[in-house]
Amino acid sequence: MTVHPIRSIGDPVLRQRAVEVPLDQIAASETQTLIDDLIDTMRAADGAGLAANQIGALQRVAVMEVHDNLRYPYKSPIPLTIAVNPVIEAMVDAEGVPETVLINEGCLSVPLRGEVRRHVTVRVRYRDRRGIEHEQIERGLTAGTWQHECDHLDGVLFVDRVDDPATLATWDEYAFHHRAAFVERITAFEERFRS
Ligand code: ZN
Repeated sequence: MTVHPIRSIGDPVLRQRAVEVPLDQIAASETQTLIDDLIDTMRAADGAGLAANQIGALQRVAVMEVHDNLRYPYKSPIPLTIAVNPVIEAMVDAEGVPETVLINEGCLSVPLRGEVRRHVTVRVRYRDRRGIEHEQIERGLTAGTWQHECDHLDGVLFVDRVDDPATLATWDEYAFHHRAAFVERITAFEERFRS
């Protein structure tokens, strides 16, 4: 159980593609320790998710968890999820078009926030820490979190996907100029996915 320093944008490890964990290695102590360290580091940093690259490991493992998150208080809850070898696929609507939404994102590896267009509905397939296969549909901000974490495993950062660089802001400037409008818009959007 170790809280690691989180790598920052500019560190080449964030730009490398992480490799699949061989199925017979999921139970190995190195993989299990990586998972525990990702959880501890994510929680210590109040993150909603963390990918292995962000602590310098190049295995395809990411963790996510949201309960009353301090960094992202508008996010819907995500139970603690360990995604080994996740694969993500955009779902399309009746017209065959993938619906998208602009999400103001942050990242523990980037000291800025910015608006990123994400798919609203995705199908995710992954293994958990016991190697059990899961397939599920995720929607809204939770779908955005999955896309953000899977991007990390491909060496992609949210800043790469910001359409309009003018939306980039420090956390302080976001809070002062942009937070109220974003939270109002995204809270109304998330209502669709609450049962
Ligand atoms: Zn991130």
